[in-house]
Amino acid sequence: MEMDQYRGVWVYIEQEEGKVVDVSLELLGAGRKLADKLDVPLSGVLLGDNVKELSKVVFEHGADQVYVIDDPILMQYRTETYMTGVNMLCKKYHPEIFLYGATPNGKDLASAVATDISTGLTADTTILDVDVDKRLLEASRPAFGGNIMATILCKKHRPQMATVRPKVMKALPREEGRTGEVIEETIDLKEENVRTKVLEIVKNVNKKVNLQDAHVVVAGGKGLGDEKGFKLIHELAEVVGGTVGASRDVVEAGWIGHEYQVGQTGETVTPKLYFAIGISGAIQHVVGMKNSEFIIAINKDPDAPIFDVATYGIVGDAHVIVPKLIEQFRSLENEKGGEMSYV
Ligand SMILES: Cc1cc2nc3c(=O)[nH]c(=O)nc-3n(C[C@H](O)[C@H](O)[C@H](O)COP(=O)(O)OP(=O)(O)OC[C@H]3O[C@@H](n4cnc5c(N)ncnc54)[C@H](O)[C@@H]3O)c2cc1C
Repeated sequence: MEMDQYRGVWVYIEQEEGKVVDVSLELLGAGRKLADKLDVPLSGVLLGDNVKELSKVVFEHGADQVYVIDDPILMQYRTETYMTGVNMLCKKYHPEIFLYGATPNGKDLASAVATDISTGLTADTTILDVDVDKRLLEASRPAFGGNIMATILCKKHRPQMATVRPKVMKALPREEGRTGEVIEETIDLKEENVRTKVLEIVKNVNKKVNLQDAHVVVAGGKGLGDEKGFKLIHELAEVVGGTVGASRDVVEAGWIGHEYQVGQTGETVTPKLYFAIGISGAIQHVVGMKNSEFIIAINKDPDAPIFDVATYGIVGDAHVIVPKLIEQFRSLENEKGGEMSYV
């Protein structure tokens, strides 16, 4: 099939317990811009059991069409069943761009689809754009250890596919009542022919932190000196009602667990307020926090790259500045009778 016969931007709509996951709505926001530039429809791809109703949410977040495969065989995510459904849709409708959330299931599905239909896939994309004349998706992500941003093109195969982590793109405001076309398809698979069975779903109940949804993140880096110095981060977080975050070097030093790491190989966060304390601002860290609304950086090096993304910068020793901030916040809180809110 000729390349120019592929048309349309698709977003894989991941659903969990009857709800569309946030990253899919964020990708509809990003996909809408690409579709408008290319002058093609934006479509959601929704698979599951009893999921057709969710099309409403997909339309209200920017889609023109929703491809639905509703079948009990799709009740739980399994690579084989979901890949079969998605590949059937791709082969029948020929999208030119297909975006997936970089969630465990999204990454699994995207790579299985890419392999099966022989196309390219850019993982963990942080910027999406399109060359309208050539109809090429420009998927940018940190590369070579994060020292450069690489823009990856898929010139010879379709669809052009990318995964994007949660919180990197922005969802459009919900447009109540916005609607579109539902295209229903069926899946040609029988349960007895599926090799994988889901016996039990065990949720990760150990995860103590929810960095992704935090309104205030107080993150510390190697500049705190040692584990004892890093305690200042916990103290400041407590006094401002924030969640502790960390650079990878801090995690590798064993001062705190990996679940607190912000950045390319950690969490992507978009709080209203992000403190970066004793953090140099390496690109791998910055890609995980640059979309925070306000960034306050504290660093003793005036040329530290973190100041390039900071809203406010304080040049100085964290061991001197942070205790002063804690003291100030505490006294403000005492004045207001413990009713302070910083966001
Ligand atoms: C493939 C790959 C993936 C990666 N993924 C991640 C990731 O997800 N997240 C991440 O964070 N990193 C990641 N990294 C590592 C990243 O490149 C940096 O090495 C790391 O972010 C640096 O951590 P840091 O800023 O805490 O330490 P440093 O780079 O050592 O910076 C310490 C900073 O503290 C300042 N400082 C020193 N003393 C003080 C003081 N007393 N007061 C105030 N400031 C002070 C210094 O001026 C310096 O700017 C990754 C690297 C690779 C190769």
